[in-house]
Amino acid sequence: MAHIVIMGAGIGGMPAAYELRELLPKEHRITVVNSTDYFQFVPSNPWVAVGWRDREAVTLPIAPYLERKKIGFIAKAVTQIDATASKLTLAGGDVLAYDYLVIATGPKLSFSEVEGAGPVKSGGGGFTHSICHIDHAQAFFAEYQEFLKNPGPVVIGAMPGASCFGPAYEFAFILDTDLRRRKLRNKVPITYVTSEPYIGHLGLGGVGDSKSMLESELRGRDMKWITNAKTTKVEQGKMFVTQLDDQGNLLKDHEVPFKMSMMLPAFKGVDAVAAVPNLCNPRGFVLIDEFQRSKAYRNIFSAGVCVAIPPVEITPVPTGTPKTGYMIESMMTAICHNIADELVGKPATAKGTWNAVCLADMGDTGAAFVALPQIPPRNVNWFKKGKWVHLAKIAYEKYFMRKLKKGTSEPIYEKYVMGILGINRLDK
Ligand SMILES: Cc1cc2nc3c(=O)[nH]c(=O)nc-3n(C[C@H](O)[C@H](O)[C@H](O)COP(=O)(O)OP(=O)(O)OC[C@H]3O[C@@H](n4cnc5c(N)ncnc54)[C@H](O)[C@@H]3O)c2cc1C
Repeated sequence: MAHIVIMGAGIGGMPAAYELRELLPKEHRITVVNSTDYFQFVPSNPWVAVGWRDREAVTLPIAPYLERKKIGFIAKAVTQIDATASKLTLAGGDVLAYDYLVIATGPKLSFSEVEGAGPVKSGGGGFTHSICHIDHAQAFFAEYQEFLKNPGPVVIGAMPGASCFGPAYEFAFILDTDLRRRKLRNKVPITYVTSEPYIGHLGLGGVGDSKSMLESELRGRDMKWITNAKTTKVEQGKMFVTQLDDQGNLLKDHEVPFKMSMMLPAFKGVDAVAAVPNLCNPRGFVLIDEFQRSKAYRNIFSAGVCVAIPPVEITPVPTGTPKTGYMIESMMTAICHNIADELVGKPATAKGTWNAVCLADMGDTGAAFVALPQIPPRNVNWFKKGKWVHLAKIAYEKYFMRKLKKGTSEPIYEKYVMGILGINRLDK
């Protein structure tokens, strides 16, 4: 009998637990360890921040759903990984031994890299908001309700070193839609400030026509933008931004005023993972091989935002490569097959496709992109806009939450529909 521990019950960890349970004979034990007792559907946080969703709609208690599938659950943070002895120390001091460890801990939100940025409780200076966590999105909404009584300029964007740009665009367009509906948009100048070298880069070197489409969308919604933006400091109501040219030379220094701001931070690996000798790169992301296995420890696999992926290209202000939901699930499927194979004495051969598929809501419309594979040149490379994406994004939320409540990882119709689109989880 083997004991498989999954660390992190997010977009990657939860489906992995279900998929492993489906693949493995009953004698093998599966335990999920997560720092909170609830799951949050992170992609819905932009809606929470403007009050279009409440917390109950996008979170669920983990224990009852996992227990129903005979999967163990511990609602505690892992504070230390002893990768040589295959043991975890949990908050409070309990020790948990594993035969295989699946690390799916998502990002550490590295607000402290820019003075003054990010929520205080998350190690930031308190002058900008975030939508990376449900608590942050709720904090934005609380202040937003006061802001609406006396509105002013807003700054939205992504900090140097950020890798997740889609949600910043998404949030700018959602906020614009919300303010227009309230007939207050005329009182809110919005500036989009991003470390991307151009609008629509998305950490992916662009996808299809993303540059001209997103520029056109920002123009159409009266938003100004600053690209190659190295945000250096935030004070109450003021953001200090050094704009670089394409060669990385100083182009202009800006002081951008704001009444409210949401800036996505750079990501790092979480402390307990980053501290393991030889496991990670200098930013704490897990170094893995093509089978999602740690390069240093044969019984550790990893997937999701916590793995190391090189940037698609070097940019004047550092940017990273995004890891999107479907790509994360494809990594997890590969891990589940590899662990199942090893347990019956076969070599691990499954590889995730890492295809980037993303739906970004724009409030009343939306944009979808498919990048197959993620690194250009690509076999499929399209970016399309339409109201159907807004509806598809709502459906994605409902579908994912339902999938977790039902306890399945990849229901048969998902496999069928994605298969028709040529999008598969495993690289055959
Ligand atoms: C605002 C936002 C919107 C996004 N929208 C989309 C979208 O629309 N579509 C899309 O495809 N992708 C989207 N993404 C990208 C990506 O899908 C999400 O970031 C996704 O949540 C990443 O999944 P994950 O499993 O790697 O990490 P997470 O979902 O963040 O899960 C990590 C889990 O690990 C737990 N954890 C962390 N440290 C420890 C520890 N020490 N011990 C135990 N547990 C720990 C956390 O509590 C958490 O539950 C979005 C990202 C953001 C930030």
